[in-house]
Amino acid sequence: MKEKLNIFWFRQDLRLDDNVGFCTSLMGMHPVMPIFIFDTEIIEQLPKDDARVSFIHKTVQELDARLKSYGGRLSMYHGKPLFILKQLLLSFDIQSVITNRSYEPYGRQRDKEIANFLSEKNIGFHTFKDHVIFEKDDVVKSDGAPYAVYTPYMKKWKALFSAKKPLQAHDFRYHIDNLRSQTAAPNLSLSDIGFEESSIKVPPYEVSTKLIRQYEETRNFPSVDGTSNLGPHLRFGTVSIRKMILQAISEENEVFWQQLIWREFFIQILWHFPKTTHNAYKPKYDRIIWRNNKEEFELWKAGKTGYPMVDAGIRQLNETGQMHNRVRMVVASFLCKHLLIDWRWGEAYFAEKLLDYEIASNVGNWQWVAGSGVDAAPYFRIFNPTSQLEKFDKNGIYIRKWIPEFNSETYPEPMVEHRSARLRCLETYKAALN
Ligand code: FAD
Repeated sequence: MKEKLNIFWFRQDLRLDDNVGFCTSLMGMHPVMPIFIFDTEIIEQLPKDDARVSFIHKTVQELDARLKSYGGRLSMYHGKPLFILKQLLLSFDIQSVITNRSYEPYGRQRDKEIANFLSEKNIGFHTFKDHVIFEKDDVVKSDGAPYAVYTPYMKKWKALFSAKKPLQAHDFRYHIDNLRSQTAAPNLSLSDIGFEESSIKVPPYEVSTKLIRQYEETRNFPSVDGTSNLGPHLRFGTVSIRKMILQAISEENEVFWQQLIWREFFIQILWHFPKTTHNAYKPKYDRIIWRNNKEEFELWKAGKTGYPMVDAGIRQLNETGQMHNRVRMVVASFLCKHLLIDWRWGEAYFAEKLLDYEIASNVGNWQWVAGSGVDAAPYFRIFNPTSQLEKFDKNGIYIRKWIPEFNSETYPEPMVEHRSARLRCLETYKAALN
């Protein structure tokens, strides 16, 4: 007779502590077998030394070691999730599959297919809210419509949050006896899944009292370590959003707290408007006739535009997978507005490189910069890359770090002249929007 069990499927929630779905799965009637699937639908499109895959692999190994210390194991798989689950059904009498909810178009479609398949077999598929404080329709206007402007969303978010029961951490240790002790699959090395170790590492996050208290003063200066580095950790769930929100509140730093709400704002926008991954949120903006010059795009990607803040940002991204938020805005604006290259090209490049790449925030911010998105900057507000540099890297510390040849003959001349590029942009946008 096949062994009866429940499966807990780890995805973007790679931790045991305060993991809603994992903790809930242990409260069920049957032993829990935790699994992780290196999803070929996602990872096959990535370069072999992708830094995110290295990070996920390392984190999954740590999860396995931690589960081992509690008498369990993590079963690891490589393939298409539906196929893997079908295989598992051959060996086990699976009662239910439990996981935390995905809000992205691919994850939603995948989960729909899996839920349908499992329901035909009378197996439950239970998903939980873990990735955010508020999801889907939790924060909507009084008529039920989603918010498309940040400030009222943020205010409602805060009002609902204050009215909520205090957040409590989900402690898996109370029910840890329900963990199944054996693994059903061999441990997978990076080469087993066709990858190699990346030289780029995900830095640890920092949310010390000092950092949060100084956040407003330091967060805009790319030469200062003034931000939390939480991006990849929230993305892959190596930290709990509830824990971070509580910490932000206890330090009483509104600005830091509001950044975390921006993240949820864009996640709910993507949930309500999944087409914005490819279409402008404001349809008129899809009438813009982009220049899309491939050679210019290559110069931008190589950090050779002749505008030091743009070039330093892109080089930082290419070398480390990171780019400071202030610099992301300048780099993105330069692409869409000075070069008139479609924001989708830039979005795709960031998706390939950013350690903290998350489709909701990436698309949301790119559309914000291009002017086509929710609550976007008016199109005629065009960042001046030179004055941004004077304001935020006055002493040139950041640019000299990433552009060693700065101020030498080998550093290129600006590829476009700011004033004429600005005028060209205004004319192009105006022609499309009128
Ligand atoms: P901190 O300043 O310490 O902020 C803490 C957290 O708040 C961040 O980790 C993030 O989760 C959230 N946050 C802060 N600012 C934003 C914002 N504008 N939008 C959404 N969430 C925010 N962020 C991503 O997580 N993934 C992306 O793919 C991404 N792409 C971007 C593309 C462009 C063109 C721009 C302008 C911004 C993008 N951002 C993205 C937002 C922001 O740049 C990063 O979240 C931030 O730089 C990450 O560094 P940190 O963790 O040290 O941030």
